[in-house]
Amino acid sequence: MALFDSHCHFDFDAFAADRAQVWARCQALGMQGLIIPGVSIPQWRNLFALVHSEPGWFGAVGVHPWWVAELALAPSDVGRAVIERVTHERKRGAGPSRCIAVGECGLDANIDTPLAQQLPVFEAQLCAAQELSLPVIVHCVRCHGEVQRVLKNIRPQKGGVIHAFSGSREIAEEYIKLGFTLGVGGTITYQRAAKTRKTLAEVPLDKLLLESDAPDMPHAGRQGERNSPEYLPAVAQTLAELRGIPVDTVIAQTGNNARALFGI
Ligand SMILES: [Zn+2]
Repeated sequence: MALFDSHCHFDFDAFAADRAQVWARCQALGMQGLIIPGVSIPQWRNLFALVHSEPGWFGAVGVHPWWVAELALAPSDVGRAVIERVTHERKRGAGPSRCIAVGECGLDANIDTPLAQQLPVFEAQLCAAQELSLPVIVHCVRCHGEVQRVLKNIRPQKGGVIHAFSGSREIAEEYIKLGFTLGVGGTITYQRAAKTRKTLAEVPLDKLLLESDAPDMPHAGRQGERNSPEYLPAVAQTLAELRGIPVDTVIAQTGNNARALFGI
């Protein structure tokens, strides 16, 4: 079975001690690959060293909203830095590029950095994705209207994913119209996430990807623990139950969706 984790911060220190063992357990569960998103410019080098150490791992280049406050570059220089790093990674190694997206980037209304400061950094990365002809991994917390406005202005021709989607069916359908897929994570394991569970039970399965967002987003019953890609089958199982379809169908279709979106 081709389980695929479309969003996993596997380079983070939380996995420093046992990354190989965690990956071995993931593979035993049928996981075929995972994507490690970029979060900050100083992080990219190690991220891609890791990506090139394991055939199933892929990387993205981006600046996450939480790291915008510590940027030493102007937004236009961030766009240039993204393009340079992707170009560098594309030349590296044999076979198809292991650098498959721009991101994660976006807007977050839950942090101290003002949206006005986050916005030009997000826009610069969308423009870089256009130039590179890559899909985008989007982080959006409590500002779907603003993110959709930006995506209408700078519409990525290769689409992308709204990672860790939560929201109404109306919001979901607007993203799908913009050419985006939705990342389904541990949020749906919580009964209280009723609106998001309903949305993700109803939108077309070919618009959904599975993701752990590990080490963040612990599942219901695992609060306070490190989240791990090895728990991804529980997300697949929950989604299958919500939709009333076999879990194998969820795993196969979402895996195909991820490979199609990211050209893997
Ligand atoms: Zn993330």
